[in-house]
Amino acid sequence: MSLLVVGSMAFDSVKTPFGERDNAIGGSATYFSVSASYFTDVRLVAVVGQDFPESELNFLAERSVDLTGLERKEGETFRWKGEYGFDLNTAHTLDTQLNVFLDFQPRVPDSFKESEYVFLANIDPELQASVLEQVKSPRLVACDTMNFWIEGKRDELVKTFGMVDIVVINEGEVRELAGESNILKASRKILEMGPKSLVVKQGEYGALLIQNNSVFSAPGLPIEDIHDPTGAGDTFAGGFMGYLASKGDLSRDGLRRAVVFGSVMASFNVESFSYDRLRTLAGEDIEARYREFSDLAHFERL
Ligand code: AMP
Repeated sequence: MSLLVVGSMAFDSVKTPFGERDNAIGGSATYFSVSASYFTDVRLVAVVGQDFPESELNFLAERSVDLTGLERKEGETFRWKGEYGFDLNTAHTLDTQLNVFLDFQPRVPDSFKESEYVFLANIDPELQASVLEQVKSPRLVACDTMNFWIEGKRDELVKTFGMVDIVVINEGEVRELAGESNILKASRKILEMGPKSLVVKQGEYGALLIQNNSVFSAPGLPIEDIHDPTGAGDTFAGGFMGYLASKGDLSRDGLRRAVVFGSVMASFNVESFSYDRLRTLAGEDIEARYREFSDLAHFERL
């Protein structure tokens, strides 16, 4: 089924204790689209500058990402620079250059307006809301954000959260936005803003699915060679939404399986810089890793 995403496309300069890379292709919508493309066709709304390589756009198109909603503007593509310490769970932003994002107004093409599944990837919350005003009656809307917007556009972000079904954000962002350190209390405050479900990403430790009366916990797969966690959250969201859009099952069990598929895709992403590892996955790789997750967390009820 149809899955629409709006978000950033970027050049990332990333430093980890194990290596660094300048001007790697990144951006929330880019990671999301590549990941979700393993489950369903993706419709992308985003903006790039003249400097964004045509070869990457061709790669996305080959993976059935529909680029009708992509604008190529005069000027430079969005740029993000970040660093990770030995704790690879937290990115420290060193620089953000909005560039072509500064006066970007997302336009949803007519052919995308009836998309049933919509993901508002990390981007200015006002732009996220403007996309929702243009789509007709989606079956499911989810969204992500980051501390940059929590700190810079809090009121707009709370308004956007009031318009969505599911929020998918990091544990640290849940605490920061709620002003509450206990994760259950903080999650409840976010649910009070409007969404019915909250997915709390916990970096290498996995993810929680929190609804009013239930909590589900999916583990993170212990991985020996982590190169770069950048984009793990967006890749998670791509697996999560891609699976939901491909099956159409929004039951509690369907959402739980989607959280595991999100974790599966994120576990591949951290194995390389940029989305290099996601370029060559096969369906069997994804299924095999889903089984690994199932074995990892399985225990018998007494
Ligand atoms: P994550 O999945 O949280 O690791 O997201 C990393 C991606 O978010 C990088 O590829 C960045 O280009 C992108 N990004 C960083 N800051 C922002 C921002 N303020 N708005 C939109 N995207 C961003």
